[in-house]
Amino acid sequence: MIIKDDEFGEVVVRKNPLSTSVKFTISTSGRLQMSVPKYSSDFLIKRFLNRNRAIIREKLPINDPTTQRARDAKKKILMKQAREYLPYRLEYQAKRFGYKYSRCRLTHANTRWGSCSSTRTISLNIGLMKVPEKLRDYVIIHELAHLNHMDHSNAFWAEVGAHDPHYKDHRRRLKMFSPGV
Ligand SMILES: [Zn+2]
Repeated sequence: MIIKDDEFGEVVVRKNPLSTSVKFTISTSGRLQMSVPKYSSDFLIKRFLNRNRAIIREKLPINDPTTQRARDAKKKILMKQAREYLPYRLEYQAKRFGYKYSRCRLTHANTRWGSCSSTRTISLNIGLMKVPEKLRDYVIIHELAHLNHMDHSNAFWAEVGAHDPHYKDHRRRLKMFSPGV
């Protein structure tokens, strides 16, 4: 559940059946998270928050609500663009090079551009919409090649290179971007 706080913005509250005390942490998006005992009432949760304001302010790197809202808006736009582009581009490249995957999934992890699972699901990060098309295609080809090689062996790279002759350059240039929103 999410509560709105004037100072900290959106606060994510998790009721944890195992915990007997309140814990404050920061989510990957910079939101304040509270883990509280399962039967805590809304009144108690707000009281915990109010009592700990000084400590939270001092110890935790919370994004201010404006930054948070801006990031949420940016993520929404990227997600929309990604939905209208990435699944089709993946399908196009797969057909072009004769690959068969089972499903395309869109993610917004902070660390990975893409992945390929043993069930042949290909995940692509919506952050790919921020990078040049050639680099985007490199990631797609990289993940497609994992359908045949679930490692980064020489054979894997040879296959990537066969479809993207400039993959080394693309791979290097991709490092200048971050997948996170
Ligand atoms: Zn890989």
